Amino acid sequence: MDERTLEDLSRLKTELAEADRVLVGAGAGLSASAGLSYLDEGAFLLHFPEMYRLGYRCQYELVGMRDSDWTPGRKWAYWATHICYVRETVPSLPLYGKLLRLLEGKDWFVVTSNADRQFLRAGFDMDRVFEYQGNYDVLACSKRCTRHTWESLPALREVKAHIDHETFECPEEFIPRCPYCGEYAEIGFRPENHEEGFRRYADFVNSSADLRLCILELGVGFNTPGVIRWPFERFCRLIPRATLFRVNRGYKDGVGYKGYPQVPEDLGNRAYPLDLDAGEAVDWLLGEKT
Ligand SMILES: [Zn+2]
Repeated sequence: MDERTLEDLSRLKTELAEADRVLVGAGAGLSASAGLSYLDEGAFLLHFPEMYRLGYRCQYELVGMRDSDWTPGRKWAYWATHICYVRETVPSLPLYGKLLRLLEGKDWFVVTSNADRQFLRAGFDMDRVFEYQGNYDVLACSKRCTRHTWESLPALREVKAHIDHETFECPEEFIPRCPYCGEYAEIGFRPENHEEGFRRYADFVNSSADLRLCILELGVGFNTPGVIRWPFERFCRLIPRATLFRVNRGYKDGVGYKGYPQVPEDLGNRAYPLDLDAGEAVDWLLGEKT
């Protein structure tokens, strides 16, 4: 670790200790650093051999492919494979538990773009975690006949058990349906209590206006910058005693995604870029690594 990074990490440690509140933003880079990387070609080949055969090389190419021209049977085969993998094959990742320890005794709030539920599994108080893009655990009606969302995993396990591995399709009769109108279900992502979570997030930020606020970004790149990255820069501009720490390392090139830890120049000495894996930073802050 270079001297500049060490200096900025020390500054972050002080800020975590002395700030009134901590606002954490967590992106895909946090889960990647924890061991769930959507760019990992080896894991992809192991767990998604059919998709590898179709020419895909990592999950990142597939996440969010709702508008692809796949048949409903193919889409459900993919979603069931992907979500059962993330929710049931991948364990609760220790880095999340460490992050929870780091926040212990502080007044914190987390906003995340991750749908993988690692915060829930690590034991975070989910009233203090806003999953901005929802999570994998809910299904919704594709025709929006109701705002109700329901548990996805039982239906996805059923899909997974019936995938035709030659064609990588789920037979029509096993595609999940809306229990109200009978149309296809879809991956809901945003559960019906989503707005409630957003209100809690907004309340936390609004009531921090006059406080010393440590803003800590972990693994947030330019995939969906409007979700965490840009709002966090704005909060730092608007809240006079806020300091932004942007912890992210660049990732594998070739699929158009890198970490970009840079911070806007106008934030001056209230924003610090840390070109580090989230896991390295958390370990250092907990004193588990020098
Ligand atoms: Zn419906």
